[in-house]
Amino acid sequence: VFSEVPLIPGDALFALKSRYLKDTRAHKVDLGIGAYRDENGKPWILPSVKEAEKLLQQDPEFNHEYLPLNGFAPFVEAAAKVILGEDSSALKEERVASIQTLSGTGSLHLAARFIKTFYKQSETVYLSAPTWANHFPVFEVLGLKTATYSYWDDVNKSLDIENYLKDIENAPKGSIFVLHACAHNPTGLDPTRDQWIQILEAIKKNNHLPLFDSAYQGFASGNLQNDAWALQKGVEILESPILICQSFAKNAGVYGERTGAFHVVLPKNSNNTKAISSQLAAFTRSEFSNPPAYGAKVVAKILTVPELRIQWEKDLITMSQRIYKQRVALRDLLVQLDTPGNWDHIVNQQGMFSFTGLTKSQVARLETEHAIYLASNGRASVAGLNEHNVEHVAKSIDEAVRF
Ligand code: PMP
Repeated sequence: VFSEVPLIPGDALFALKSRYLKDTRAHKVDLGIGAYRDENGKPWILPSVKEAEKLLQQDPEFNHEYLPLNGFAPFVEAAAKVILGEDSSALKEERVASIQTLSGTGSLHLAARFIKTFYKQSETVYLSAPTWANHFPVFEVLGLKTATYSYWDDVNKSLDIENYLKDIENAPKGSIFVLHACAHNPTGLDPTRDQWIQILEAIKKNNHLPLFDSAYQGFASGNLQNDAWALQKGVEILESPILICQSFAKNAGVYGERTGAFHVVLPKNSNNTKAISSQLAAFTRSEFSNPPAYGAKVVAKILTVPELRIQWEKDLITMSQRIYKQRVALRDLLVQLDTPGNWDHIVNQQGMFSFTGLTKSQVARLETEHAIYLASNGRASVAGLNEHNVEHVAKSIDEAVRF
């Protein structure tokens, strides 16, 4: 019966990871998948998360029961507060419908299903060029169309704001626009605050539906409030609903626990949150019944227990500063080596990734000749750099660029 099921190529990033794992060269470096690594290249359990896990173990009420369809309420509530801000008028006015999801990807999926079912103005989702590769299938799998808007200016290694704004203007009114809330993946390049205002005003003028994908809050600048600035500005000035897909994979380092949330923020004076929540719960019921409990319980603790919250905010600074230091180290080494090209963009970008500008063949050479693994579009996960390997990486880039 299934003999005609066609074989398809595996996911490129996961294939990269598996080639890295098979590589026996001792000096190999993994700059592939975006997961934080400590200064020894090892996965890092955040101290705040360790403490939260201790609290859960000591809690006599802790159990492995099913969660409600909408998720673990203390988590969902605290997640909405951290992304929208403690003083959010949308929250105070009860204009937000929130539900726990299977991390950021699950949140995007739910957003896609919500759009497909209830948004009648358009079926076209505009994604930045380039964007996180999974953005395309996550919308297309539900029958939505995808298109791209200008983002990365390859010549100047900067934001192509002029064409970005033109594309917002030229898209049919009411289109769906996916905006990376901060730490744009893959370029690590975010609009300035002035540019964000221009973008949001253009979205407002053209009646588009914005979807903020927030996978790196606190990871970009080390400050939760800064990294939610654009999104909160959107909530303040836009008159349309706003969709928010929130992940705690990176900022709490709970990648495999699949901890996230989806929020629908309604405009002022609208009040349909109960109905929207009921629909979101029904989607969950039909797809996976109820969300995973453990990560939500851990993250609820780091968000709400005051001492853990302080520790978590310190952990965010630890991660973002270590990454920044490695950006500077890599740029400085390339400058010292007089590697052809300008490398300042590595320092100007933020978050987990650097869009290095290396070509496909240079990336291939780094892998075969130097055991350095990064995505073929030249995206490097800077978290994979540390003081033990950054010199090897810089010298290898130098060699590949001159080859
Ligand atoms: N959006 C973006 C832009 C991402 O980079 C990622 C993770 N790479 C996600 C969403 C989803 O991540 P997760 O499902 O692990 O939360």
